[in-house]
Amino acid sequence: MINPHPGLPELEYVMPASLDEASKFLIEHTGEAKPFMGGTDCFVRLRDGAWNLKYLVNVKGLDGTNEIRFDPKNGLTIGAAVPMNKIVSHPDINKHYPLLTEAARTVASYQLRSRATIGGNICNASPAGDTIGACIVYGGKLNVHSIKGKRLEPLASFFKGPGKTVLEPGDIVTSISFPLPPPNHVGRYIKLGRNKISDLAIVGVTVLGYPDSNAKSGYTFKIALASVAPVPLVPLKAEQILADKPLNENIISEAAQAAMDSCTPIDDVRSSARYRKYMIRNLTRQALTDVWQKIKK
Ligand SMILES: Cc1cc2nc3c(=O)[nH]c(=O)nc-3n(C[C@H](O)[C@H](O)[C@H](O)COP(=O)(O)OP(=O)(O)OC[C@H]3O[C@@H](n4cnc5c(N)ncnc54)[C@H](O)[C@@H]3O)c2cc1C
Repeated sequence: MINPHPGLPELEYVMPASLDEASKFLIEHTGEAKPFMGGTDCFVRLRDGAWNLKYLVNVKGLDGTNEIRFDPKNGLTIGAAVPMNKIVSHPDINKHYPLLTEAARTVASYQLRSRATIGGNICNASPAGDTIGACIVYGGKLNVHSIKGKRLEPLASFFKGPGKTVLEPGDIVTSISFPLPPPNHVGRYIKLGRNKISDLAIVGVTVLGYPDSNAKSGYTFKIALASVAPVPLVPLKAEQILADKPLNENIISEAAQAAMDSCTPIDDVRSSARYRKYMIRNLTRQALTDVWQKIKK
């Protein structure tokens, strides 16, 4: 019988002194080295034999990757190596970006959240990543270090497929920056898992809503869906319906149906594709209703 868990291979642990050193090393060893932070995704891949590497490069703690900074004029920057528990307990995040807190709290267990980082959750590029939806609806942009210099990558165009992003060898995500959130916004993340803790989402629905005088309906809703497409999915048609038509239960149901129609899920060990589609419709309706009830008040 084939051993499904061959165990961790021997590899070298590299601890660069600077981001430049890390980027250079990663380029020199393209194909045999990867950056890591918490390691909660990397070590599983290595253990299962999905990756065959010679080097793991620890980029945690380099140049501000552990910091959280909030500025009331410019918004929030969270270092890529900040673990989920720190996000859950940070007063500025709880106060100004509560949807990030809510999403981070749903990641696995307390123990895992003390290692799992927000940067790792994003760079792992799993369509099921729990914090990605909140980062998208808050308009997050990634700060990326490379040997050519620094650049910003909007999350909207970052994901290319399961485990695939626009990052090139030597690119290191250092932090994620968010603009100030819309005034009076309300957020909701509903995660459907096989159990209450420590499992990836069968589906996940993130909704952020706020009063908006530029929208015909008087409200804007941002939506991101997890585990229903090769990349985290923004159902644009559903968002448009909610911006254009006067809000009521029927319009919310119409938008939830549009969200369901935009999904292209797969069958896997967690669920059938069909179940995922129906749960997206039901949970999108629930999340939109919860948010709308609160912003109307
Ligand atoms: C038991 C278990 C339960 C889990 N449950 C959940 C869950 O409920 N929800 C969920 O969303 N996830 C879950 N995960 C997945 C994982 O914990 C998260 O995705 C976590 O946030 C990854 O962060 P990390 O720092 O450990 O990433 P790492 O393993 O360090 O890295 C992940 C990926 O990102 C790349 N990377 C890391 N840092 C950088 C960087 N700075 N720049 C560029 N690329 C980088 C790595 O090369 C790798 O490809 C679970 C994992 C386990 C083992």
